[in-house]
Parts: sequence; C-alpha cells; structure tokens
Amino acid sequence: MASIFSRIIAGEIPCHRVYESALVIAFLDIAPLSPGHTLVVPKRECEFLHQLDDASAAALGEALPRVARAVLAATGATAYNILQNNGAAAHQAVPHVHFHIIPKPNPELGLGIGWKPGTLAAPDGTALAERIRASL
Ligand code: 5GP
Repeated sequence: MASIFSRIIAGEIPCHRVYESALVIAFLDIAPLSPGHTLVVPKRECEFLHQLDDASAAALGEALPRVARAVLAATGATAYNILQNNGAAAHQAVPHVHFHIIPKPNPELGLGIGWKPGTLAAPDGTALAERIRASL
C-alpha cells in the first residue's frame, strides 16, 4: 500500500535522512516528540510488521541499534523508547511499517506511556502460550 513514506523512499518528498542501506532508510520525524526522534523504515511497501519479509526484518534488526547509537551520540540523550504501531486502533497513522526511535532526555519530552498492567493466571498463560507456539 503506497503511503507518504513510499514517496520519501523514492526521493519525491524531502526528508532529513540519517541512514540508508539497500533495504532500509531512516529519517527524522517531521513532528518529533523530542529532538532526534527518528523513523526507521523498510523500503519494501508493507503495512504491518507481521507481514514483513525476512530480509527486510533482518535489515531492520541491524539498522535499529546502529541508528539508536547515533541518535544518542548526536543528542546526548541516554534514555529512549522504541515504538512500533500496527493498525489504526494501535495509533498507526502511516500504513507503512516503521520504528520510532524517541529519545527521552527528561520527563517532559519524548514518549508518554499509559500502562495498565493486568494479571496472568497460570492456567491461562499455559493455554495461551501453547496456542501461540502452535501458530509459529
Ligand atoms: P505512526 O503513528 O504511524 O506510528 O507514526 C507516523 C509518524 O510519521 C508520525 O510521528 C509523523 O509525525 C511521521 N510523519 C508523517 N508524515 C511524515 C512526513 O511526511 N515526513 C516525516 N519525516 N515524518 C512524517
């Protein structure tokens, strides 16, 4: 599915590019939550992470720590979040897989998280883990 990121990857729309390989590009987010907020994006058009081919997934795995190191070095931040949204209900606005690297330089800047932990009963965990393993 073509999105604004396809046009950035094609060079039709400008971006502040910080990294590029054969399969991955990374550039600064246009509406950063903190200085250095960077998007790491597979070049392959793909909406959701679980649809991604192995080569692009491996290239992303290689790029993420490398770009994160560079973002930390450039901004001086020592804390950061990696965010990856899938589906509009999960706050995905651009339908092309991307990872956010979001420096957390202080409590006011960066990603805010609402986290409401539940509980996992042992029998439920056993059954659920079994279903997931069976689906791999
Ligand atoms: P999502 O909610 O889909 O995980 O995040 C999409 C991100 O893409 C947002 O943080 C938004 O600011 C960023 N974004 C959307 N359009 C553009 C654009 O044209 N250029 C850049 N650099 N970032 C964009």
